Amino acid sequence: MKILTVLGARPQFIKAAAFSRAMEKYEGVEEVIVHTGQHYDQNMSDVFFAEMDIPLPKYKLQTGGKTHGAMTGQQLEKIEEILFNEKPDLVLVYGDTNSTLAGALAATKLHIPIAHVEAGLRSFNKKMPEEVNRILTDQISNYLFVPSSDAKQNLLREGINESKIFVVGDIMYDVALYYKERMVKPSWFEDLNLEKFILCTVHRAENTDDATKLSNIFKGLGLSNKDIILPLHPRTVSKIKEHNINVLPNIKIVEPVGYLEMVWLEVNCDLIVTDSGGVQKEAYFHNKYCVTLREETEWVELVDEGYNTLVGFDADLIKQALSQNYQSDLSVGIYGCGDTALNILNIMVQHEN
Ligand code: UDP
Repeated sequence: MKILTVLGARPQFIKAAAFSRAMEKYEGVEEVIVHTGQHYDQNMSDVFFAEMDIPLPKYKLQTGGKTHGAMTGQQLEKIEEILFNEKPDLVLVYGDTNSTLAGALAATKLHIPIAHVEAGLRSFNKKMPEEVNRILTDQISNYLFVPSSDAKQNLLREGINESKIFVVGDIMYDVALYYKERMVKPSWFEDLNLEKFILCTVHRAENTDDATKLSNIFKGLGLSNKDIILPLHPRTVSKIKEHNINVLPNIKIVEPVGYLEMVWLEVNCDLIVTDSGGVQKEAYFHNKYCVTLREETEWVELVDEGYNTLVGFDADLIKQALSQNYQSDLSVGIYGCGDTALNILNIMVQHEN
């Protein structure tokens, strides 16, 4: 069986690491990786392939740094060409980026079965580009691998046939378990001279593209007076400059880190504050409470179970949330037991052979 994986953004490289490792256990399954180039910087792309042992992509496209339409259009055209050449048995896509949608669209038009990992997640906010990518990808996928029963219910409500939906747990839990044993303290950490710190990430377009929201977030973080380490996504760096946002000295901005350093920061911080989907779950995997800088989340289980609180972008709410002491005695088990990649492979091999 030949699987063609389309990926292009940081969270997809991280998920692909678990899948590619599970693949090693299978004879007769070949994976061809197409990297769309949606993320292309050394610290947003190459570092993950190097330190996580992800096989190098056979195809590397250059579709990053464009508007959504131009990027998705170019990806669609180029992936179609590759599919003509490679003739895979199945196309595998992850998550909710433009690369996810382009990969799925290219495949469906050539009647190639599609497997979508992290299917069924919904924020119910169609202003988010990710939400549109998810809904459309799910509608045309043949294998919908969902992390939770809530995600399955979302798909059933949208009329997707139950026989296509597989509750397999969360592939990011496989990754979190494996790399926790290999985590690395960032070389710059001691220079900051911090006893305790909060770990924060901010990158979602709905926060960065709106000057008021972004400035409120930084105001709230600054008001908290606690030391905050913020590995900053390139999009947010440029928006801080564009919107002239004031960054107070308790907020230590650093370059985006590799995954092994990120895990170290997650394991050693007191609290995680983020608008990232993946980081919300990693907080839970590493037994940390999470304050989410959004008004809704796709990971509703974490809020329902009391591991995550949504504060949106109100400066006072953010300040308040950061000043609380949270218990960090979280029970793990919501997203499976860390064998999701293997489950996915088993299902695909069983059905396609
Ligand atoms: N991450 C990382 N370095 C960083 C920031 C995040 O390795 O400087 C990892 C993080 O641990 C998680 C993933 O990137 O596994 C999340 O990606 P992102 O927040 O870009 O996307 P989302 O999960 O919101 O789709």
